[in-house]
Amino acid sequence: MMDYSRLTKAELLERLKEIEKRGAVADPATGRGQAAEAALADNEARLRAILETAVEAIITIDERGRIESVNPAALKLFGYQTGELIGNNVSMLMPNPYRDQHDSYLDNYVRTGHAKIIGIGREVVARRKDGSTIPIDLAVSEVRLAERRLFTGFIRDISDRKRAEEKLAILAQSLAEKNKELETIVYIASHDLRSPLVNIQGFSRELAHSCDSLRELLKGMAMDETRQEELKRLLLGDIPEALGFIQAGVSKIDTLLAGFLRYSRLGRAALRIERLEMNALLAGIIGAMEFQLKHSGAELKVEPLPECLGDATQVSQVFSNLIENALKYLQPGRPGKVTVSGRADKERVVYSVRDNGIGIAPEHQAKVFEIFHRLNPGKSEGEGLGLTIAQRILERQQGKIWVESTVGEGSEFFVSMPAPRRTN
Ligand code: ADP
Repeated sequence: MMDYSRLTKAELLERLKEIEKRGAVADPATGRGQAAEAALADNEARLRAILETAVEAIITIDERGRIESVNPAALKLFGYQTGELIGNNVSMLMPNPYRDQHDSYLDNYVRTGHAKIIGIGREVVARRKDGSTIPIDLAVSEVRLAERRLFTGFIRDISDRKRAEEKLAILAQSLAEKNKELETIVYIASHDLRSPLVNIQGFSRELAHSCDSLRELLKGMAMDETRQEELKRLLLGDIPEALGFIQAGVSKIDTLLAGFLRYSRLGRAALRIERLEMNALLAGIIGAMEFQLKHSGAELKVEPLPECLGDATQVSQVFSNLIENALKYLQPGRPGKVTVSGRADKERVVYSVRDNGIGIAPEHQAKVFEIFHRLNPGKSEGEGLGLTIAQRILERQQGKIWVESTVGEGSEFFVSMPAPRRTN
């Protein structure tokens, strides 16, 4: 015999309909004799097998909501015996307010054909015999017989899924809180670490001055040659070299801390979301970049841009960084070309800043958004923070940034922002 438990809901339903259809044709009342009766018995056996073996709870009701059949899975799920359910109104399996509404709902459907669940399926809450409630996925299908119709409900317990969803929501919430906490730690640490750093900076400078004074003092002193050589090595070699390393280290930490501070301040800055006229905003950015533009010798073209919703200061910062990068990473020996364009659909606006520069290899394209990540640190000025900040800014305003690039041909950075609501 066929294992009906393996069939999907749609397949089961198809089988049910097929059996009902055959049943009608093979009705002994139509006078088809023994063969028809056998076919009918066969159909009934199949129907029973479907109900018995299905993993899903299946309940059949008539047009007035009275339970006609229940399968073992339904008995197990609701905690009833067959006799306690058959003939009773299916609303007994629903908690209030659904229980009270069900009769009028079914009535309304039978009269008007207006369905809320039938043929649609949705998540609802069911009630067990012990009064406890469970979230279920309910799909109801209508089965039209020769003279009446039945409704078959396929019920799946989704408690596990719901619990997992709740857990996920709690996790997401705690992740957001942890993130905020981390940001505060980064902020405080970078802020507080700066004062000892300033001390190290100041005292190492003082040490350097002391070394100079010591050298002057020792100049006039009489001492043997070996001592003189040793002192020379220390005062002109080892000590200044060590101080040089300390100062270089301090200034590197200083840059990193300043970067962390800038990054963590972003999360605190209040946003003022408004409709942005992007061509005006770009004109402002380009005006302030006159020098870099001239220096690069590049041709910069800004096409008519659609408006978007965002914070003017922060969005300016994003575009200013993208254009700065486009000019900074041009291919030497090739006339630079940078184009800013944009297109809008109903919900989103996507801008592009395209250059014909050195490009970014595929394996680095995601990494350029990581904090302090630079591809050619020695070759150009920068701290590897611009794109990280751009991404952070956009995240906070439902924006996105990504890049498409070919090494040796150029890069195209895309920025997607929410579109303003249409007024007409
Ligand atoms: P910075 O420019 O200060 O190094 P960014 O975060 O703005 O920091 O950029 C990170 C790295 O991404 C850069 O160091 C550079 O290697 C690469 N990059 C950014 N923009 C471009 C571009 N338009 N073309 C090629 N490489 C780029």
